[in-house]
Amino acid sequence: MTEGRYANIIIDISHEKVDRPFQYKIPDSLRGKLKEGMCVQIPFGNANHLRQGYVVEITDRAEFPDEKQKLIAGVVDGKLTVEADAIKLAAWMKETYGSTMIAALKTVLPVKQAVKLKEKKKICRLMTAEETRSELGEAMRKHQNARVRVLEELVREPVLPYELVTGKLNVSAATLKSLQSQGIISIERESYYRNPVKLETIREAGKMLSEEQSRIREKVLGDFDQGIRKTYLVHGITGSGKTEVYLSLIEGMIKRGKQCIVLIPEIALTFQTLLRFYKRFGDRVSVMNSTLSAGEKYDQCERARRGELDVIIGPRSALFVPFPNLGMIVIDEEHEPSYKSETMPKYHARETAEYLASIKNASLVLGSATPSLESYYRAKEGRYELFTLNRRLTGGSLAPVSIVDLRQELRSGNRSIFSRKLQELMEERLQKKEQIMLFLNRRGYAGFVSCRSCGHVMKCPHCDVSLSQHLGGRLVCHYCGYETADPRKCPECGSPYILGFKAGTQQIEQQLHKRFPGIRVLRMDGDTTKKKDSYEKILTAFSEGEADVLVGTQMIVKGHDFPNVTLVGVLAADLSLNDSDYRAGERTFQLLTQAAGRAGRGSKPGEALIQTYRPEHYSIVRAAEQDYEAFYEEEILYRELGEYPPASHMLAVLITARQEEEGEELARRLKESIDEQKKEIKLIGPAKASIGKLNDLFRFVIYCKSSDYQVLIEIKDSMEALIQTMERRNETVQFDFDPMDSY
Ligand code: ADP
Ligand code: ZN
Ligand code: ZN
Repeated sequence: MTEGRYANIIIDISHEKVDRPFQYKIPDSLRGKLKEGMCVQIPFGNANHLRQGYVVEITDRAEFPDEKQKLIAGVVDGKLTVEADAIKLAAWMKETYGSTMIAALKTVLPVKQAVKLKEKKKICRLMTAEETRSELGEAMRKHQNARVRVLEELVREPVLPYELVTGKLNVSAATLKSLQSQGIISIERESYYRNPVKLETIREAGKMLSEEQSRIREKVLGDFDQGIRKTYLVHGITGSGKTEVYLSLIEGMIKRGKQCIVLIPEIALTFQTLLRFYKRFGDRVSVMNSTLSAGEKYDQCERARRGELDVIIGPRSALFVPFPNLGMIVIDEEHEPSYKSETMPKYHARETAEYLASIKNASLVLGSATPSLESYYRAKEGRYELFTLNRRLTGGSLAPVSIVDLRQELRSGNRSIFSRKLQELMEERLQKKEQIMLFLNRRGYAGFVSCRSCGHVMKCPHCDVSLSQHLGGRLVCHYCGYETADPRKCPECGSPYILGFKAGTQQIEQQLHKRFPGIRVLRMDGDTTKKKDSYEKILTAFSEGEADVLVGTQMIVKGHDFPNVTLVGVLAADLSLNDSDYRAGERTFQLLTQAAGRAGRGSKPGEALIQTYRPEHYSIVRAAEQDYEAFYEEEILYRELGEYPPASHMLAVLITARQEEEGEELARRLKESIDEQKKEIKLIGPAKASIGKLNDLFRFVIYCKSSDYQVLIEIKDSMEALIQTMERRNETVQFDFDPMDSY
């Protein structure tokens, strides 16, 4: 082994042109000390400006003559080192999802900067208890009351927290100083890790597992002990005991000296969920999410690195917490779209976890009530091992679901948002003082505002989308936040008949008050949950019975049990079907299933009602029947016919530009370069994206489809190579493999 004379370094500049390792010579002072993953300063470019970069390889192989090699200027203090596995993971992400290496490196670093540890002071007695007692006697004789208070405690305890003494005992700093100068006590500082979770809770043992639950436990841990590493998919309705299974698997892993990462979508990461983990594992559990300060994040990583934590819970970025001995990754609600990153690299947590598990030699457990088509497909192919839990352990069966045809309602003269059947059922619940949830898959007050005379639609000047009408006479762009006043006249033709298409949550709230005077309503949507904590607050208020009805967007269908909710109404189930998006059917099925699952979670039986204009659509029919398997069979046929994931793979290439023509030109050149390769793929576009302009940037999109992911990677690589040779001004190119949304 040589210690290496050269270092290959990724420069911290996110630009394709410099997206490769640059070689530098290691100065004698750093020889043997420099490690892969360290952040260093290097002179870069013709002007030799100092830049930062990460060492990705140390080698003896010179890429060019010694006299031409520049020297590393030094190691950057306080920057975190990227661990070897993380560098590997970043390289895999760059390759699999398309991004610069530096963007991938930054993604796998959960915190970039070391943050100083917090300190607390403590008071330590320097004498024996006996000597302290005699000091106490002395102080009593002299009526030095403050001294007496602190010495009394010190007789009993050799070390006291500083805050206790200055706070509760009300002893001044001056008194402590004098005790210190007399050699009776010392005041010491101790650093400690911030702990974002402040929970004092009684530890609880796990439940006695049911037969089905035990089978999963035995199989997963049995495989683990035999050195078999796999991905397991637990398909089980809400309340079927999935979380209990995770907890018992984690317990098994901890017994084996292993650590676990548990991914839960940020929105489902409620206090109750955390509490359950804490009751089981105490403070060897921690969280990692966006509400943590930089210091808190840093400390959780340090605690993990040092083996002071067994479990970390968080959204997708919790994957990158550096455990020394990772044994298992759990992804709950694995079908959630939020597991896919929206920025480059556009990685999916499920696949990334699969790769991470393979390099860490860990197992992967996925769980969902409505598995993603991807995971179920893989389970059917035998790549994942499937387990099914189909009994609710808390008693209470699934609520019956019925469908109301809104076209029929209109024909019989009911123009209200509430069908006659829904009104009847609500009336009943209100009388019985039971609670109701109404779910609308759209936020805001209304859809678009259009002129009834000339058809003009009010649009955002920065984005190619229609503005949404909100209460208080405002029109708002949900993409960029642009706001303007409601127009009184059509800006095109001057007609006063410019009106909103009303079907938002605010509108429903108004209608409720009109139809059921005195009704108490809580509303939850993007507007009422802008403030931190407001989400939890609304849910808590509702669970404490402060309202009869909770109206909301899809946020209300996640997490949280409301035992008193016995009716769930879905107001217009097909709103999510109208999206021109190949996942719309899947998303609708998942939302409706979750919504229906909200009814009857307590001892009282519940029911759910789905209102729709398309009662025959299989996503709606199967959701009402709560038949995942049947839904899957129909949906996968559609994916196979359309060559959509998971039946095939898809690469979306998004081109954005300040000038429309420049974007068009770049898109055209990229398409030509794909054509030249004569690969066996299906190519669609380039076309204007469905949102053709966003934040003043023009957007174009190209789709490539192939059953072979590797072929798509090759196409991406060739485009990256082409882009590197081009002079570009403001255009950008983004890659998205197996996209969650259409562009
Ligand atoms: P899921 O994660 O599938 O929604 P949970 O694990 O939260 O299901 O279980 C639902 C409820 O059933 C919880 O209240 C849990 O405490 C309880 N439970 C789970 N497993 C058992 C068991 N083996 N025996 C008794 N109760 C259980
Ligand atoms: Zn008009
Ligand atoms: Zn806008």
